[in-house]
Amino acid sequence: MTADTTPNEEALSVHRRAVAVDMHADTVQFVIDEGTDISRRVGTTHLDAQRMREGGLDAQFFSVWVEPEFYGTGGERAVARADAQVEAVRALAERHPEVWSFATTAADIRRAHGEGKLAALLGLEGGYAIDEKLERVGHYFQRGVRYMTPAWTHSLSWAGSSGDAAGATRGLDDFGRAVIREMNRLGMLVDVSHVSDKTFWDMVETSTSPVVATHSNCRRLCDVPRNLTDDMIRAIAGTGGVVCVVFYPGFLDPGWRARKNAVEAEIQPLIEEAERGREGSLKRIAGDRVREREFAARLAPVPFTRVADHIDHIVGLTSVEHVGCGSDFDGITATPAGLSSVAELPNLTAELLKRGYTAEDVTKILGGNVLRVMQETEGRAAR
Ligand SMILES: [Zn+2]
Repeated sequence: MTADTTPNEEALSVHRRAVAVDMHADTVQFVIDEGTDISRRVGTTHLDAQRMREGGLDAQFFSVWVEPEFYGTGGERAVARADAQVEAVRALAERHPEVWSFATTAADIRRAHGEGKLAALLGLEGGYAIDEKLERVGHYFQRGVRYMTPAWTHSLSWAGSSGDAAGATRGLDDFGRAVIREMNRLGMLVDVSHVSDKTFWDMVETSTSPVVATHSNCRRLCDVPRNLTDDMIRAIAGTGGVVCVVFYPGFLDPGWRARKNAVEAEIQPLIEEAERGREGSLKRIAGDRVREREFAARLAPVPFTRVADHIDHIVGLTSVEHVGCGSDFDGITATPAGLSSVAELPNLTAELLKRGYTAEDVTKILGGNVLRVMQETEGRAAR
């Protein structure tokens, strides 16, 4: 951090006035696996209530993430894993109503902001827990889930992922299209992060509501399958949707990614040592702690200004109406310098103002665009 990126009074004032919404964090994994109380300050996560307040983040979509490796791509265990996360997020507001407000609509978020509370929301990362049953989309909607991406890194029969070989040719089948239509009918946001290119285009074609990318960057700046091509970014804007930039250095900077892959190979014995004797998500968490420690020690960090580069690119292709934030905090094993936790979010506001964005632009990028898309999706739902 250099002195000229430290937020000045003007930046802090713009930031505090904005209703800031982040579309993706994996923090609930730690809540259910390690019993972490994120209503207090925590040393082991990127996000907690205290640092949300310091960072001026008003609303967080918590990712409900089923790891297929441990819980399957469907069936009882996948369902139970997702349900446990849904209940853990709902419990935040039940146990600490003075801190959290469980939210499902744009109006809920604005109300929580007005009451000085933090809004907690739910998104489903991967359709594994709907278990190939259309009625389970309704079940999760009833429990408060307001977005779903069809596939995480493992393709399903009905939707291809960008993370495996099957996804190279797989899009949505008839059931997959029915899932998207059901989401539209209910008023659940349609999320394209993680899906294969073919699935992306099938989703854009099928959805009658705006399409969002909850945590994806630009392939033009960092060429990985998880990022979006310029045509995809324009297509999302064409639906009225929003691309929420992700803070993971591997999706921000191609150089970092190459160096990381070399380090990952070197530290494999350390990872295996940490994982030994552990099972399920606890095994993954143990390995990721080693990765986070070693990446921080061995790799030059990516500056947080790279996040602003991706925002610039999306705005250049579309307009300031179609970009937002989806940090992926607590789902990533490295963070940019200057955005190492949610507490540092005002740095992004300062950088955007420095680049010539107006206070109104920054307010849209921080959350206004997501609120608009939520409202639009709610309005189109058949009630
Ligand atoms: Zn993800």
